[in-house]
Amino acid sequence: MPETLEHSAAAGHRFDTVLIANRGEIAARIQRACRELGLKTVAICSEADREAPYGSTADSFLCIGPSTAAKSYLNQHAIILTARLAGAGAIHPGYGFLSENAAFADAVEKAGLVFIGPTASSIAIMGDKISAKRAMMAAGVPCVPGPDTALPDDPATIERIALEIGYPIIIKAAGGGGGRGMRVVPKADLLHEAIALTREEARKAFGSPSLYMEKFLEHPRHIEIQVICDDHGNALWLGHRDCSMQRRHQKVVEEAPAAGIAPDIIQPVGLACVKACLQIGYRGVGTFEFLYEDGAFYFIEMNTRLQVEHPVTEMTSGVDIVQAQIRVAQGHVLDLIQGDVTCEGHSFECRINAEDPESFLPSAGVVTHLALPAGPGIRVDTHIHAGYKVSPYYDSLIAKLIVHAPTRAEAMARMREALAGTEVEGISTNIPFLRALFEDGAFARGETDIHYLEQWLKLRRAA
Ligand code: ADP
Repeated sequence: MPETLEHSAAAGHRFDTVLIANRGEIAARIQRACRELGLKTVAICSEADREAPYGSTADSFLCIGPSTAAKSYLNQHAIILTARLAGAGAIHPGYGFLSENAAFADAVEKAGLVFIGPTASSIAIMGDKISAKRAMMAAGVPCVPGPDTALPDDPATIERIALEIGYPIIIKAAGGGGGRGMRVVPKADLLHEAIALTREEARKAFGSPSLYMEKFLEHPRHIEIQVICDDHGNALWLGHRDCSMQRRHQKVVEEAPAAGIAPDIIQPVGLACVKACLQIGYRGVGTFEFLYEDGAFYFIEMNTRLQVEHPVTEMTSGVDIVQAQIRVAQGHVLDLIQGDVTCEGHSFECRINAEDPESFLPSAGVVTHLALPAGPGIRVDTHIHAGYKVSPYYDSLIAKLIVHAPTRAEAMARMREALAGTEVEGISTNIPFLRALFEDGAFARGETDIHYLEQWLKLRRAA
C-alpha cells in the first residue's frame, strides 16, 4: 500500500475488521478482497447457511438469526450489534438485502461504524426515481422524455402530459424496484385505468402512491456505466456494460464493453455521470443505468451499491472494484485518474442459477458433483462445492462464470468452452439454457435488445 495513500486516510474512517452483511458468492468475493487488503473479516449467517464455506475462512463466523431473510440478513439491529460485539469497524452490505437501505446506512454510521457505500442521503435521493431523475437532469445526464415531477391528481392535466410525451408511455412508481410498479400504456383510452392500478400497487408494495410518467421506448438496449468516487472530490467512470439479456427484468448474461458503441458516443455520457456524482457528493461505487435506442442514451435509474455484474468491468479495466470500494470507504484518495482507465478486450458473465432450465422454477437440494472450468481468461465466483446444500430461502444464484478474451468473438468462444466444462449435479441449473444461448446467431452478431431473450425463449418453446 503506497505510503502517501495510507497517510491520506481520514482518521475517523480507519478500520481493520469488516463485517460482511451478506451471503453466497458475494460474501466470499468481499471476504477475498478484505484479506488481500490485510483486513480481518466477520462473516454472518442465518440458520440455513451455517455450513457456508466462507464461514470457515473468516476470522469470526456468527449466526444472527433464523433462515427467513427478514429475521437474519435484513435484521438491522442484529447485524449492527454483531458488528460491535465482534469488533468490526465497518459493514459491507454487498448487493440486495440492506445495500440500498438509507435507514440502515444511517444506523450504521450512528453506531460509530463505517458503512461501505454512499451516504444515507445519496441512497435516499437515488432510491426515489423522481428525485434521481431530477438530480440527473440538473447534471446534464440525458433522461427518458417526461417530467421530473410526480403525477398530479387532476385527470385533464395527466392527459395533457401524456399527449405531450406521445404514446406509448410508461407509468412508474417513484419507489419501485425489482422490475415491479411499472405499467405500459399503448393508447389514451387505457391511461386512467393504468394509473389507478399502478397507484394502488405502489401504495401496497412500496408504501408511497407517488407515480411519474415517461416515454416507453420500444426496442432499447440496457447499457450501464460503472462509477467510483472518493471522499476527496474525485470521481471516475470505469467503462460500460450491456445487460440487455434479461428475463422478467432480471439480468442473465452481461458483457463489457457494450458491443458496437463508438467511443465518441459513450464518452460524453460517462463524463456526465462523473459530473452528476460530483454534484451530489457521491461516495463509493455506483451504476448509472440507461436505455439506448437509435444512437441515444436515456437515464432510467442509479444503483447505489456494488452490482452482481461488476466482474466484467474488473476484467476489462483491470481495476479490483471491491478493493477500490473498501479503500475509498477507509478515506483513501482514489489511486487512479481517468486517463489511467482503459478497456482491454471483451468480457462476458453468465449467472448460473439453481433453477429448472425450462420452467425456471427454483431448484433446492444437495450438489452431488461439481466440475468448474479453468484456463486463461476464465474466472468463477462462487461459494458452492460438492456436498453444498442449496437452500430454498434465497436468490437462486449459485455461481458466476466470467470470461475475458481479446475480442467479443473470442470471448464468446471461450464462454462456450467454459460452459461445456461446467458440471453441476444433484440440482437443476440453467446451464443447458446458457449453452444454447451462446450458440445463437443474433446474439453473436450483437443484434439484441431488452426483449430479445424473452422472444428467443418463446420461439424455443414453440419449436
Ligand atoms: P427497477 O428499479 O424495477 O429495476 P428500472 O427503472 O431500472 O426499474 O426498469 C427496469 C426495466 O424496465 C428496464 O431495464 C427496462 O427493461 C424496462 N423499462 C424501464 N423504463 C422503461 C422505458 N421508459 N421504456 C422502455 N422500457 C423501460
